[in-house]
Amino acid sequence: MPMILLSGNEAIALGAYEAGAAAAFGYPGTPSTEILVSLVQYAPEGVYCEWSPNEKVALEAAAGAAIAGARSLVTMKCVGLNVAADPLMTLAYTGVVGGMVVVVADDPGQHSSQTEQDTRQYARLAKIPVLEPANSRECRDFMMIAFELSEQHRCPVLVRTTTCVSHSRSLVTPGRRREPNAVKFVKNDPQFVPLPLWGRKLRAKVEERLDAQGAAASADERLNLIIAGRDTRLGIVSSGAPALHARELFPDNPMLKLGWAYPFPDELIRRFAASVDKLLVIEEVDPILEEHIRSLGIACTGKELVPRCGELTPARIYEVREKLAGRDPALPAPVAEAADLPGRPPILCPGCPHRGLFLALTKFDVIVSGDIGCYSLGVFPPLSRTDTILCMGAGFTVAHGMQKAGEKRKIVGVVGDSTFFHSGITGLLDVVYNKGATKLVVVDNRITAMTGHQEHPGTGVTLMGEPTKSASIEAIARACGIERIHIINPYEQGRLIAIFQEEFANDEPALIISRAPCPLHVKQRISPQRRIDHDACKNFRACLKCGCPAIESQGNAKPTINPFICMGCSLCQSLCKFDAIAPVS
Ligand code: SF4
Ligand code: SF4
Repeated sequence: MPMILLSGNEAIALGAYEAGAAAAFGYPGTPSTEILVSLVQYAPEGVYCEWSPNEKVALEAAAGAAIAGARSLVTMKCVGLNVAADPLMTLAYTGVVGGMVVVVADDPGQHSSQTEQDTRQYARLAKIPVLEPANSRECRDFMMIAFELSEQHRCPVLVRTTTCVSHSRSLVTPGRRREPNAVKFVKNDPQFVPLPLWGRKLRAKVEERLDAQGAAASADERLNLIIAGRDTRLGIVSSGAPALHARELFPDNPMLKLGWAYPFPDELIRRFAASVDKLLVIEEVDPILEEHIRSLGIACTGKELVPRCGELTPARIYEVREKLAGRDPALPAPVAEAADLPGRPPILCPGCPHRGLFLALTKFDVIVSGDIGCYSLGVFPPLSRTDTILCMGAGFTVAHGMQKAGEKRKIVGVVGDSTFFHSGITGLLDVVYNKGATKLVVVDNRITAMTGHQEHPGTGVTLMGEPTKSASIEAIARACGIERIHIINPYEQGRLIAIFQEEFANDEPALIISRAPCPLHVKQRISPQRRIDHDACKNFRACLKCGCPAIESQGNAKPTINPFICMGCSLCQSLCKFDAIAPVS
């Protein structure tokens, strides 16, 4: 078949399809989201795909599919594996029947993540293999191998990508789809019921499996290979995208490129180390290989030269090379920023409903505990109405903890609709059950917006495009015991402010659902664009307080509204005391 140009994520989807995966589960998270978005194209050929409410649910569902004999896939971003860690640890003991691959997309450089986690650490903790593709071809090929290894060793296999690998494009040769496995669950209590009496036996088997996998990794030249080089004074050990960059920067040096880095291929590492004078380990984020190589009694250079934090770009590896050679890296100076370039901080889109919520909250001296989503941008000026962000679902719980600790100010917990279903419900339950007084806000824009508009349990549509039941946030809250519930259009500033005033005056928990669709998703103006009448405008500049990027102001000139991007939300109009802002007729 002719080669095709695919992103790493698309190639992972292709690999899963060709490997005969029958079911795939995931929760959207950059940079992993496009895997399921791409895989769902194969639904007509029998690949079931779903967005699960969260990563733990997704991993458990994939485990169920694999225990019943199917090949299954689960996808998430790095922090998602924190949520899914509980079932992963046990699944590493109980194992699977059909192959199960857990694809986790790490984000070195934190382009879109709150932490810079190294998923290889989870492989060590769970004692399961981790494969690290370096480009799209390897993404496709390694997926096929990962399913094979999973069935051979009867355990889940992690595939770790990074933002660079997931989002860059390279050529892939597609193949034919393998016949999916027959599905029939076979009862086997000592394997699938890890009560301590059986769990202890499973634990011992995990160690035996690790030894077998380490030996297999040493011998598997599809994944781990020694690339010859004539300058054997230095050998490079690397994995993932940095291995490709390092190959370009050290073209004459031998390289041990590890696609299956854990369990460690000790025999191969020893053999490679014996063939060179010195070793340099180039790995992104944590010094996992480096520490292990040292534990084998082999000297190497690593994180004393290779940065621990951030993405290992070619420029940074070049710097390592020059420092190692005792030369001044003398990188070309970055292009100077023109003094008059406007700043472009991340900002809510024009017409974003979240702006209405944060604008209303600027009227109150309260603490706002935020969460992960587009609404995280409420932290930036001029709104500056978010004070803490911890993780998915923590908008409610962090607020509750502050209140219970005795914080005197009123506290508002904010989560999005997708986050509410992901892990916000338990926080709400905590507030009600433990008699909290937190004001709970769900910014409900009817979609998982930040990752590119994915469906969720409240949207009434599945990833497969089928209509389904739409979970009601207010009904769930009522069932949990919340009695004070307001549903409000956030563009109605007067009403929203009045609701907050009413709720801040009492000590009961309340739920405020700030509900309006993401205009970028529905691709519709809310109402006609606004324009500023410069005869009526006194240049009081109150409209700028809503931080809408459609409002432009050069120096001290009177602001104008860019009609091409104004969504007609009317928030700026509500701020103008001089009635200078009105809909375009
Ligand atoms: S994508 Fe939608 S929800 Fe996100 S900032 Fe833009 S308008 Fe708001
Ligand atoms: S109406 Fe005003 S605040 Fe709303 S999108 Fe247009 S310029 Fe921005």
